[in-house]
Amino acid sequence: MFHLFNRRGGCPCCDPEFASRREVLKAGIGVLAGTALLSESAVAATLPSVRGLNAERYGTEDSFNGVYFRDGKYDREALHKLDWVFRDLSAAEVTPMDPRLFDVLSSVATRLEATEPFTISSGYRTPEHNASNARRSRAVSTVSLHMSGMAADFRLQGRDGYGVARLAAQMQMGGVGYYRQGFVHLDCGPPRRW
Ligand SMILES: [Zn+2]
Repeated sequence: MFHLFNRRGGCPCCDPEFASRREVLKAGIGVLAGTALLSESAVAATLPSVRGLNAERYGTEDSFNGVYFRDGKYDREALHKLDWVFRDLSAAEVTPMDPRLFDVLSSVATRLEATEPFTISSGYRTPEHNASNARRSRAVSTVSLHMSGMAADFRLQGRDGYGVARLAAQMQMGGVGYYRQGFVHLDCGPPRRW
């Protein structure tokens, strides 16, 4: 089950428990870091050799629909295009997104056999933008993975958001949030849900 506590809008994105684990990781303590690497390689082994994504940015004309991974590596030009789609709109700032986020989105779309685009409402967030959101809503984490280019909020056209979130949670590829407004949050951090 997902907890629909986000009544005032916005996106919590990271729960407090994960926030403290993230601090541990940043401190460089090896046990958790080793666990993360193991799970990453296990996930990577299940990913297809050619990976594509269909995504558009809400409120803009910006979109990407194509392959971003082939021949054993990420396509740099495709990643640049995706970074633009997932940029911080309000701060007009682009950052290199973590490509594992695209793997998560791509895997969910594949599992759903979805051909419709992800309509991205939030991707990268500058620390200033995230802090502003956090001041407006206590539900927004001050250590959101959006600030690390590891998270996206979206709707998938023609699909029920709750169903998308439930499937994504079953896939255990990262964090999954479902919001009352029908938005889904996915990230490439440790598997968790809210
Ligand atoms: Zn989010």
